[in-house]
Amino acid sequence: MPELPEVETTRLGISPWIVGKKIKKVIIRERRFRWKIQDDLEKKLEGKKIQSIKRRAKYLIFDTDCGSAIIHLGMSGSLRIIKDTESPNKHDHVDFLLNNGMGLRLHDPRRFGSLLWTKDVSSHFLFLKLGVEPLSKDFTETYLNLKAKKRRVPIKQFIMNAHIVVGIGNIYASESLFHAGINPKIQTGRISKKRFSILVKSIKNILESAIKAGGTTLRDYYKTDGDPGYFKQYLHVYGRKGKPCHICKRTISSITIGQRSTFYCKNCQH
Ligand SMILES: [Zn+2]
Repeated sequence: MPELPEVETTRLGISPWIVGKKIKKVIIRERRFRWKIQDDLEKKLEGKKIQSIKRRAKYLIFDTDCGSAIIHLGMSGSLRIIKDTESPNKHDHVDFLLNNGMGLRLHDPRRFGSLLWTKDVSSHFLFLKLGVEPLSKDFTETYLNLKAKKRRVPIKQFIMNAHIVVGIGNIYASESLFHAGINPKIQTGRISKKRFSILVKSIKNILESAIKAGGTTLRDYYKTDGDPGYFKQYLHVYGRKGKPCHICKRTISSITIGQRSTFYCKNCQH
């Protein structure tokens, strides 16, 4: 599943091909996504110039001068750059063909993703209740400390709550807490501001290094094999139940928090 770093890497990878180009034609082969693609989306987009591609949480926002297309990659979606003559494969549901002979193709086997249109992103229902961006200046220990007051939920559930901070998925939550030495089960309200400061740094570092890894290694947005190529991170705890901790060599434990599997080292995290 694409997480925030993959979405950001996608944005960085496709932007040079697309920003400033005009959409000549939109081809929609399948409209049934998480939300049905609106019937006149082709009309809204054709002839429009893509002015910028932004990201908010795991949404990519393609701005034109009269509205924006919003793409979410769901569980299995990916975007890649194509030549406009390239015929579609299975699950290649949408193409934005550009005025330079290239195009952007959305591939999504499970169709939990979405493609929506809005005149005004800032008032769109998807974005109204979202918390801060983890890589922004607004995500600080002061912010977390304030939001954490009297909260009894486990810290892992708290940092995965998109109303607090967006884009921290299960893998990155487990890994960040390991880096910060914080037990994922601890009640949020009991964590000191000093420890929040360490946690904020860990989250930012892990997300940034994942974006860097994606940007420099596996991703090539102009390729033909259709492999989304989500990058594998070097993981310390996630998926390592029963294996030795990279720091203390004791066994990594697994528990369930908020219905999500959670991995941690009982010795290094408290
Ligand atoms: Zn350990």
